[in-house]
Amino acid sequence: MTHYDFLIVGSGLFGATFAYRAKLMGKKCLVIDKRPHLGGNIYCEEVEVEGTYGEHSRTINVHKYGAHIFHTNNKEVWDFVNSIVEFNRYTNCPVANYKGELYNLPFNMNTFNRMWPDVHTPAEAQAKIDEQKAEAVSAINGREPQNLEEQALCLVGKDIFYKLIKEYTEKQWGRDCKELPAFIIKRLPVRMIFDNNYFNDRYQGIPVGGYNKLIDGLLEGVDTFTNVDFFDSEYRDWKKYADKLVYTGAVDEYFDYKLGKLDWRTVCFKTRVEDTPNYQGNAVVNYTSHNEPYTRVIEHKHFEMFGQEIYNCPVTVVSEEYSTEYKEGMEPYYPVNDDRNNALAEEYRKLAEKEEGVIFGGRLGQYKYYDMAPVIEQVLMIKI
Ligand code: FAD
Ligand code: UDP
Repeated sequence: MTHYDFLIVGSGLFGATFAYRAKLMGKKCLVIDKRPHLGGNIYCEEVEVEGTYGEHSRTINVHKYGAHIFHTNNKEVWDFVNSIVEFNRYTNCPVANYKGELYNLPFNMNTFNRMWPDVHTPAEAQAKIDEQKAEAVSAINGREPQNLEEQALCLVGKDIFYKLIKEYTEKQWGRDCKELPAFIIKRLPVRMIFDNNYFNDRYQGIPVGGYNKLIDGLLEGVDTFTNVDFFDSEYRDWKKYADKLVYTGAVDEYFDYKLGKLDWRTVCFKTRVEDTPNYQGNAVVNYTSHNEPYTRVIEHKHFEMFGQEIYNCPVTVVSEEYSTEYKEGMEPYYPVNDDRNNALAEEYRKLAEKEEGVIFGGRLGQYKYYDMAPVIEQVLMIKI
């Protein structure tokens, strides 16, 4: 039986990047994952389509666990991922559909002109927003906005709040905007320029050939087993197999929920093939009213096919994304950062710190929402 330096539970970006770095340092790793595939939430299902031409148009990579766009300001992280796989030039420019009206996101001059046709310049937009938010700003009377509704109304005013934020947010979080923390909406840029790029970061793209190429590159030469749940396997007794454990599963499960269960928000997808080369003209369309039960529709080919390539592939794959409350047996996606869960997560963090020989990592292990780049950043900082 091989004795490993590290047993890594979870083959997502955290586990795979850790394994890659450890391998470079001459360490031996075993990665196990309870899912039937490697890659965690960035895994793509490769849907074969017939009658297509061109280098990357024979398969459509379906982002099975939600649309993933890599973006970062950190050159070290960007260089690192590009040393594993080439990235394309994809820029995320989602469109919002409110009862058939289409608006560019994030909130920028294109959005403002569509919302208020007499607005053409940044000064006119600013004046309009000031007028739109005046009531909300005066209502809070100098104090900080206490919830998402106050924050959004003070940021962009009522027309944008009611058409593009309120109902979308209620669908996404299953709660009234007054019950949600203000910070959630702060991550959306508000721009006085004509720029539909959703992210402010310097670097952005999708791996050429899909995210599985990134995971395959990271895990090349590493022993891996899928369909193995750490808790139901011999590896639970990990010291028999490895010197150290890297655990990227849910932190409360590791401790057998002894302090209580952490809550999650989850999403599920209805995916179908459409018999047209170009279904919605964009990778991401947000549906911002209650008219549709889903939050977004993703058309996966637009992440990797551009120009004529789109039409060389005669069909397309689309996914409707539904946001729901997490129940036993579902995939945990987003931590619920309310007071109860934040306090409970902190207690689990204290337990985790005392656990000898175990590194708790990633979004489940730390009960924190992390984009992909910060996950890599963290692993690059760990002294292996
Ligand atoms: P995961 O990818 O979840 O990997 C954890 C792995 O551990 C899983 O494979 C799981 O099966 C395994 N595991 C858990 N428990 C056990 C067990 N008991 N035994 C064995 N295996 C176990 N980031 C971006 O930068 N850009 C985006 O556009 C973006 N979009 C997102 C959209 C959605 C809907 C979501 C939820 C997240 C998005 N993210 C995005 C964040 C991104 O998914 C995460 O940063 C990344 O997946 C974190 O990697 P991880 O390794 O921590 O977790
Ligand atoms: N949001 C919104 N309308 C949109 C897009 C986003 O109201 O069309 C709000 C929503 O509350 C969401 C938050 O902005 O939770 C942050 O958006 P982001 O796109 O970062 O959400 P995520 O990537 O977490 O799905």
